Amino acid sequence: MRRTAPLIVGGGPAGTAAAITLARGGVPADLIERTTQAHDPVCGGFLGWDAIGALRKLGIDPWALGARRITHVRVLAGGRQAEAALPHPAAGLSRRTLDAALLAEAARLGVAISRGTTVRRIEGGEVHLADGAVLTPDSLFLATGKYELRGAARGSGKRARVGLRAAIPAQPDLAGWIELHLLDGGYAGLLVQDDGQANLCLSIASERLAAAGGSPERLIAALAEEAPRLAARMSAPATAWSAIAAVPYGWRTREAVPGRFRIGDQAAVIASLAGDGIAIALTSGRSAAEAWLAGGPEAASTFQRGFTRRSAWPIGAAETLRYASERPSLASPLLSLVGILPGSLGLAARLTRIGA
Ligand SMILES: Cc1cc2nc3c(=O)[nH]c(=O)nc-3n(C[C@H](O)[C@H](O)[C@H](O)COP(=O)(O)OP(=O)(O)OC[C@H]3O[C@@H](n4cnc5c(N)ncnc54)[C@H](O)[C@@H]3O)c2cc1C
Repeated sequence: MRRTAPLIVGGGPAGTAAAITLARGGVPADLIERTTQAHDPVCGGFLGWDAIGALRKLGIDPWALGARRITHVRVLAGGRQAEAALPHPAAGLSRRTLDAALLAEAARLGVAISRGTTVRRIEGGEVHLADGAVLTPDSLFLATGKYELRGAARGSGKRARVGLRAAIPAQPDLAGWIELHLLDGGYAGLLVQDDGQANLCLSIASERLAAAGGSPERLIAALAEEAPRLAARMSAPATAWSAIAAVPYGWRTREAVPGRFRIGDQAAVIASLAGDGIAIALTSGRSAAEAWLAGGPEAASTFQRGFTRRSAWPIGAAETLRYASERPSLASPLLSLVGILPGSLGLAARLTRIGA
């Protein structure tokens, strides 16, 4: 039977991991990415040890890309603070650098990459592009991440949060640390990246942003009493903010469509507080491609069900953490507990890993 090349929609960690794995297996896929150049999407830039392992398997060394070593976590809530060593070193790497390196590796291996091409909608087996072209691949890797595709949308649900990102000048006491500020309805995370800047990511209930008139600056100002250390850090000028709406934390696909491999955030969305979304994206992309190499388009349903099961535990653990951390009445007493049980932060970090 004649086969078309697999089509991958989305050139983030999930799509590129699938493309690299297929190419290494002798199958050069077509990859469509709507952006025209490297950019910084809304992401904390935290690479856990499982993400580092998954990258190495794809031939990418984050340290060679200038990633900053992170060995400790600091959590602040309601005037309390807890600190702990991470179970293994992690890395701070900008998504601009990471995504560019993954795309370059895919291109080097012969993947046909179309940048500046947008998929508008999926209709049955048809992929409709913004320029009016219609593609009918017999295998589709859906890797549009945080972005919904008409005809294949995930639905955001009640747990959806707004994501915001900006960079601020590095501050010396952040070197080697991931710092998490727990807020009513969300959190803010800070770390130093390869470019020497501190990356600030916020995940917040949409009502809180709406109450600040939709302005991230006014939101930070409104948080000054609740998170004074965060507000102080933000007194340094920030770059422009980027935002993403309706991130459906805790969502996992139940779908099993022949020939369609959902990967990355299109397969499962872990609470970003856990910092494991990139590892899940890389791991699902690689596993889906391995399933394709072994069984072709027909392997899609088995892969999808298997990955949904595999991601159940880390996603469930991350949702429990998120539930507690977003409620000041729970978060603050929990931080005192960390003082008594210093290993608990490391345990939380372990429980929310997918494993490479
Ligand atoms: C606030 C916040 C902070 C986070 N912090 C971290 C963190 O520190 N560490 C971590 O591991 N994870 C973090 N995550 C999660 C992480 O960002 C995602 O899990 C990860 O990016 C998923 O990768 P992906 O490849 O599935 O999708 P994405 O990274 O979203 O990539 C999707 C790609 O598809 C392209 N695309 C989208 N639509 C189309 C279309 N219609 N046509 C063509 N191309 C398209 C996009 O341009 C993009 O390049 C965070 C998430 C949020 C919301």
